[in-house]
Formats: sequence, C-alpha cells, structure tokens
Amino acid sequence: MEKYNWRTEWIRPFESTWSILEKLCYSNVIIRRGPLLKHLGNDKVKTMKGPVKAQRHNNLLTMFGFDEVSLSNSLGVNIIKQNKETINQLLNNVTRISTDLNDWFNEDLIWCEQCIEDGYHSVLHQFKLLKHCPFHMKKLIYTCSNCNSIPYQFSDTALAAAFTCKCRFQFADLKKRWFNWGNKFEIQCEITLKWLSTNFNSLNQSILFLPEYAAAQMNPIKKIVELLEDTDSHISYGGNGQSSINHQKVPLTISKFSIDNKECFHDYFIDLDFNLASKSANMPLYKYMYKQSVNVFKSIEHHLLYGELTKHKTCIQRFRELRKVEKGDYPEICPYAYSYVFCKHSFMGDKFFSVMILLLILQKHFVGLNCYRVSLTPTWKI
Ligand SMILES: [Zn+2]
Ligand SMILES: [Zn+2]
Ligand SMILES: [Zn+2]
Repeated sequence: MEKYNWRTEWIRPFESTWSILEKLCYSNVIIRRGPLLKHLGNDKVKTMKGPVKAQRHNNLLTMFGFDEVSLSNSLGVNIIKQNKETINQLLNNVTRISTDLNDWFNEDLIWCEQCIEDGYHSVLHQFKLLKHCPFHMKKLIYTCSNCNSIPYQFSDTALAAAFTCKCRFQFADLKKRWFNWGNKFEIQCEITLKWLSTNFNSLNQSILFLPEYAAAQMNPIKKIVELLEDTDSHISYGGNGQSSINHQKVPLTISKFSIDNKECFHDYFIDLDFNLASKSANMPLYKYMYKQSVNVFKSIEHHLLYGELTKHKTCIQRFRELRKVEKGDYPEICPYAYSYVFCKHSFMGDKFFSVMILLLILQKHFVGLNCYRVSLTPTWKI
C-alpha cells in the first residue's frame, strides 16, 4: 500500500468524502483523480481498462467505486463508514418518504464559502433540505462564480487540480495550505442540531411530502421542523373505539407552492396535486400509504360486520364457501353477502373471483331488484 502524506486530524465530523479526497490530492500533489480512483477503487474499478467514466463508480455519496479497506489504510479513518453514518443521521426523519439518495442530496457540488476556505466541505451542504451552512449560517453556493455547476463526483470532468475548477477558480485558500485543515467547526444552527438529534418518527409525529416540494421552500428544514413540532397542526382522529387507526396522527403534506408566499396561505398543509402514481417507484412512501389504506379498509369492514351485516353473517359464510345444500342445487345468494364478498375480493385484487362474478353476471344469475334471494347454478368447478 502506497504511503500518502496525510494526517487523520484533517478529517472532521460530518465532512464529505469530496473534501477529504481533495485534501489527499493537494497534499500529495495529485493532479488527476482518475488514477487515484483506480488505486483506491474496488476490484472492478482497479481492473477497468481506460478511465473510469461511469457515474456509479465515482459517486461520492454511495462510494460504490471505492474499496473500504484501501481507503481506511491510506487515510487512517474509515471515511465510507463516516459518510454512511452522516447520511443515515440526516435521513432518519424522512426514510418513510423516500430512501432514494437523489431525492435528498444534490447531484452537484454545493458549498459554503467560509468552510471551503479552510478545506472543509460537509455532507450537510449537499442535503437538499438545507440552503444555508449550519456551521456559519451563510447561504450556500450552487455554481462556480466563473462557469457552471460541478457534479458531485470524484472525477476530472469539471475540476482541475485539487480544490480548483476547470476554469482555474480556486475554492480553498491554498496559500494557507493545510494549516487550518484541523480546525473544528461547531454546528450553530439550532434547527439542524434538532434535526440530527431527534427521531420524530418515534415521537409519532409524521409528516408526508414530496422531497422536491420541500426543497423548493425558502428554508426547508426549518419549515418541516416547525410543522412537526406544531401539535395543533396534527389532526387527531378519534373514531371507533376498537379501530386500529384510532388516535393516529394524520400526516401533513407540503404544498408545491412556496409556503413563504402568504397568498398561498390556504394551501398551507394540503397539496391537492399530490399524486402517488407519479412516485410509483418511491417504495417507502407507497408502503406507508398502503399500510394506512389497509387500516382504513379494515376499520370500515369492522364497522360493517358488526353493524349492518350482522344479520347476514351466515349468508356471507355460505356464499364464501359456495356450499351446496344437501342433495339440492347451489344455494341462493343474498345480495348483501354478494356485495360484501365482491367488494372485499376486488379490493384484494382477486382475479379469479372477479372472473367468476363476471360469469355470473353474463349468465344473468342475478334477477329482480325486489327478490332478495336469487338462484345460483354454477358452471365451474372449485
Ligand atoms: Zn460554512
Ligand atoms: Zn469554474
Ligand atoms: Zn343475507
């Protein structure tokens, strides 16, 4: 293993793998990142012919292309583990909504002028719910002042030497060299501290929103924490005493229109355009909504079975089993039993049952609205 000019104290809490690797490049006068990636990469990257181009391999959030052991041996700290821990801590309160990293982290490099002067960049700067640096309370910077945005990757496509844009713009004050690289920054932002230390899910304070709507707010993290902490804004449902959804908090949604715009005050919590289908790949949100829907249906079913349908329990049972009367024909169907069983099966997506009912309808086995019991002669085998 090659020995690098490196000090472990240059790695600071919440630091991104981007600035750690830029420091490694600077202190070892490495001009090109490609060969270094091959050196520190996993077996696949190491044996690749030609330059590593695929974004999957130079992704600084997932660190998929890197080899954990090579990196740890070279830097004295497992930066892949540190990176994962920071990401998990930031996403703790939103994993129910989405676990897709692209929903929560910017794909371009976002930085704080003051942090980067001392060679520091944080995963927190990449987090879409933060638009200010939580260490300096300063607005974050999204593009190079001379040219364009810079992809958040370990690659040479948009960067020249360490901490230097292709247009020669220098992010860090390299005259200070590494004298300030060990400086400690404390998080000043109270909201960010709260976000990192509180698990709102365990407090049963849920909030539902599409990440891109939240990211469009002026101060996303502040808005979300305010909504979570405002207990009045959580509507408690106090219905049927036996219902499993009793007293659950209804999750809030954030409108796609800016909440900071007072004209949109009425859209404050409810987003009428909210469309689950547009996020069909968004599994955690889908699962969450699905679970809630199942609870609602269960509650309705319970209410029906112990109310209106109590007198029809035997009819339902008989229809479900399609039991034959002794020596006789198939029994008559009670319309209540039919409605209940059919509805339940269609909710559960039972294709066989739907086909069976269709056959029945086609064969006109249901007759007369005033006839409460109709005859059934099935033409299929069970
Ligand atoms: Zn800063
Ligand atoms: Zn530039
Ligand atoms: Zn009946």
